Amino acid sequence: MLNATYEPLSVVSSRRAVILVLEQKALLETATDRVFRSERMTVKEPSVVRLTRYVRMPQTHRRNLSRRALFARDDHTCQYCGKVADSIDHIMPRSRGGLHVWENVVAACRRCNMLKRDRLLSDTTMKLRSTPGPPRPSVWFRAAVGRMPDDWIPYLEMAERRPA
Ligand SMILES: [Zn+2]
Repeated sequence: MLNATYEPLSVVSSRRAVILVLEQKALLETATDRVFRSERMTVKEPSVVRLTRYVRMPQTHRRNLSRRALFARDDHTCQYCGKVADSIDHIMPRSRGGLHVWENVVAACRRCNMLKRDRLLSDTTMKLRSTPGPPRPSVWFRAAVGRMPDDWIPYLEMAERRPA
């Protein structure tokens, strides 16, 4: 589902997308080969819909933090040593009030996670290889759906060419 401005907003079910289109709250951008049939009508299954009115979404609600999306963002790589990551590290430890937000979490290997424990990064010799933030739309959406439909890609590429 895209905002009126073509910004990718979220992944919704086909059924919800059909309802949005029928209620004229969204326009059909692209459809799949499948159709929904009812007694009175036949409707193409939407793949991409765009809201007719702009909705203002709080930044934090846009891309939910999931383990899957986090590992995709960090390419399954420990953000401290570069080895394969198998755990999540809170940069500011949760025990010290660190939040479970994109800016405070990185993929980490167990060893680095154990080494850091509940210390602040400044109390260690460890260094982050990147500055964490929300994942790019294409990374987040791919993680959200597993396999990305081809007709989503142009919309996500368009979103990534613009400043967030
Ligand atoms: Zn590591």
